[in-house]
Amino acid sequence: MPEPPHPQNDRQYTAVVVPIEPLDDESLELIDELLVYFNTITNEMIRRLLKGEKFNYKEYKGDFHTKVSQRAEKIAIELVTAYKKLCGLFRKRLIPCKPSEPTVNKLFARLAKEQIKFRLNNELLLRISVKPRKFAYFKVHVTKQLKPFIPLLLDLEKNRSMIGEPTIFYRGKRLFLSIPIRVLKGPVVEAPDALISIDYNENSIDLLLIAGNTAAIIRLFTYLKVLREKYAEIRRGLQKKYGKSNPNTKHGRKLRRLLSKYGSREAMRIKEITRYAIHTIIGLAWLTGAKLVRESLKHLKDIPGKGLLSYRLSSLPYTTFRNMLDTKSTQHGVRLIVLSEDETMNTSRECPKCGRIATRINSEYAKCKCGCEFNPQISALFIIAKRKSLLRIIKWPKKLEYNEKQVIIRIPMKRLANASIEEATKNPIKYYRFIRITIKELKNPITIQLAQSGTQVRIKKMLEVDVRKTLWLAPLRLATILLELAK
Ligand SMILES: [Zn+2]
Repeated sequence: MPEPPHPQNDRQYTAVVVPIEPLDDESLELIDELLVYFNTITNEMIRRLLKGEKFNYKEYKGDFHTKVSQRAEKIAIELVTAYKKLCGLFRKRLIPCKPSEPTVNKLFARLAKEQIKFRLNNELLLRISVKPRKFAYFKVHVTKQLKPFIPLLLDLEKNRSMIGEPTIFYRGKRLFLSIPIRVLKGPVVEAPDALISIDYNENSIDLLLIAGNTAAIIRLFTYLKVLREKYAEIRRGLQKKYGKSNPNTKHGRKLRRLLSKYGSREAMRIKEITRYAIHTIIGLAWLTGAKLVRESLKHLKDIPGKGLLSYRLSSLPYTTFRNMLDTKSTQHGVRLIVLSEDETMNTSRECPKCGRIATRINSEYAKCKCGCEFNPQISALFIIAKRKSLLRIIKWPKKLEYNEKQVIIRIPMKRLANASIEEATKNPIKYYRFIRITIKELKNPITIQLAQSGTQVRIKKMLEVDVRKTLWLAPLRLATILLELAK
């Protein structure tokens, strides 16, 4: 589910999202009135901006707080600017389909900082100034994420520069408030030659990990494409069953309800798997002091196949991934280096052996004129780090060949403490859980030279893990295991 527009791309901020509950009917009515008004004027402003009309937000002041129409204008401008950028990319044929004109469908409102005030009175209370001398009051649900920031929110006068502009919105029938809070970057502990380059692919998030003598390619299989195709099929099935009915009939309503149910379930699953993979990556960076390196705007350049469907299939999880990675790395004090758009060009087509642009046969196979055959998802990891001059490729074998073995790691469960050794040995399934990691040993290792120290490192191992099946394991624990196996 796309969130309302938010300054979350600014890496200084993290968004704290909390459920809020109106204290009385009057507050609910007032806020609903604000949300509907905000939606109407934002769409109206978008229409006028697209037509190239000039206007002043003060025309739309209504009887609301002065900041309301100003914020609506800001959002309208943001959306129209983004739309124009996409049109530009479309004209350059960098995206396969013409972007649709922006509209705001969701009920939300961006608020000015001076419109909100918090108070602690047994519970955390929120007051939103909607109209002159008219306020809506809410009880704020204090989540674990919010807790550390309560003192800051109670003294907003003093800490105004610490927060961004909050957004109030509906998710289902509940109201939420999202507050961007400036996170002070913690001390970054960074080992000079340690790095993790990241390549996002439709079914895996791939990493090249280099830290001291440890070097390995790690593939975290997310199978998000498989997941998205499964849900697309469910949606097609529903359309077939109910699609012909009028949207206002019983069947039409049922279709809408089911579509939104499966839609949010899919989005939740994508977020869960992505978050887990990212926490594993952050864990690896933490344990090794590595900096992270990622590409920019990957989904716009590298979509296998063409057409609307494949564009939609791949764009949403990538945006989720990118936003989450940026936020989490800031939160955890891990340095993130982002390639520019130019540096991102052809990262998965550049031949790692000779540097020519090779022909990509499919997402896992490319062939170069020099005779080198490579997996573009894997070579991209090296090219990404190379583009930022973090390493040099010294030797790349003509073809990557492996000896493959699987390791199964047994992790004792809590109930093992109450069992006798014999019992546990007889019935391991009950007392242990298992994760399966594939280790592929390269027959001819890849040799690289690290830019900073000049040392040469040989990469001999590739580790593969299906992260859908390790969700029960703490990501930091998985990171520890992967690091151990990479040695
Ligand atoms: Zn080549």
